[in-house]
Amino acid sequence: MDILLIGAPGAGKGTQAEKLSQLLALRHIASGDLFHKAFEDQTELGLKARSYVDLGELVPDEITIPMVIRHIEEPESVQGVVLDGFPRTLAQAQALNEELGRLTRQIDLAIHLKVSREELLQRLSGRYFCQANQHVYHTKFRPPKVADRCDVDGSKLYQRPDDAGEAMRRRLVIYFNQTTQVLDYYREQRKLRVVDGNQSIDQVQNMLMNEINDYMSREAKA
Ligand code: ADP
Ligand code: ADP
Repeated sequence: MDILLIGAPGAGKGTQAEKLSQLLALRHIASGDLFHKAFEDQTELGLKARSYVDLGELVPDEITIPMVIRHIEEPESVQGVVLDGFPRTLAQAQALNEELGRLTRQIDLAIHLKVSREELLQRLSGRYFCQANQHVYHTKFRPPKVADRCDVDGSKLYQRPDDAGEAMRRRLVIYFNQTTQVLDYYREQRKLRVVDGNQSIDQVQNMLMNEINDYMSREAKA
């Protein structure tokens, strides 16, 4: 099973993808996390991507596409993946389609997590990540048990500079400009489902699981 979560910055993709990957035993691949790891490890890819990420711009497709495809080809992805933050452009969606085709796989469901702009701003402004593994928290909506420490691995929490100011505003504009094409692409293939992401974390999770169970029972009958 291969699933996509599509949504604006702050929509809850990472939060939900982490849960879905545990419940369904799928690998969670987040393009933003892969870039972050490349910065930490100071790889050549990290150096190339940094200036774009800091400004809130999309990293060019020729850097992004091979990075994600490489992870899909790894043995850990053989049971299926939950993709979060990729594809963000039509070219990325087409490249993903080709790659999965080569592996005799396909996207089963593309789920659009739809969240109001007001809610996105609140979520981004209170978002924290853990240093060690990018676990996600929120000052109000998902506070850690111990202040400033990750519940899972105890590492310190930090805020992303591109979650505020000009970079944050640019990310939202780019999302709304680019993603329509990606949504249309999956709608035409009858793979798109829309979930109201404005609800609580648990409610959204239940709605996502309903969509996935509904898909699986239809497939079983077909
Ligand atoms: P994305 O990966 O789409 O950018 P995140 O999963 O990082 O979004 O969520 C953005 C912020 O909002 C995080 O701080 C997260 O804890 C919080 N959050 C996620 N889902 C919800 C929700 N349903 N209700 C309230 N806050 C949420
Ligand atoms: P969010 O979780 O808030 O949606 P991400 O962590 O997915 O943001 O992405 C952070 C940054 O990494 C983006 O602003 C962009 O610079 C870069 N990035 C992530 N995914 C992609 C992608 N699919 N294509 C191009 N750039 C990307």
